[in-house]
Amino acid sequence: MRLTKFTDLALRAVMRLAVSERDESLTTREVAEAMDVPATHMAKAITRLQHLGVLEARRGRGGGLELTELGRRASVGWLVRELEGEGEVVACDGETPCPLRAACRLRRALRDAQEAFYAALDPLTVTDLVTSPTGPVLVGLTGRRPE
Ligand code: SF4
Repeated sequence: MRLTKFTDLALRAVMRLAVSERDESLTTREVAEAMDVPATHMAKAITRLQHLGVLEARRGRGGGLELTELGRRASVGWLVRELEGEGEVVACDGETPCPLRAACRLRRALRDAQEAFYAALDPLTVTDLVTSPTGPVLVGLTGRRPE
């Protein structure tokens, strides 16, 4: 199974923000630069994460993006399900619907495999994802280029 680029960007943003210190105020552009992706793409992922209650933007001086308590404790399986949506791994009902779709054992098996994929991510929290060795590497990814 392959995740969409959108989900991958959102997970990268969440991981970077999970290692932010309280006095670190990262903007969407800085998160995008740290992860070496276009800011416009990252902005869409950040907006979705805000709608899910995983991130919030602090306003004013010292403002910036911040992971919420829900974001820190969120199950990675839940987050990936929300980001990926309801889609199946194969487009049985697509533009040219498959003639087998009403009675296909493969479709059922693929649905089960998809659920097993998500279930393997359920026990992990976002905080688990940033323990060593990932966390220390993330801290160093500021995106601020040397002068
Ligand atoms: S063979 Fe089965 S799984 Fe494949 S597209 Fe057709 S209905 Fe879907």
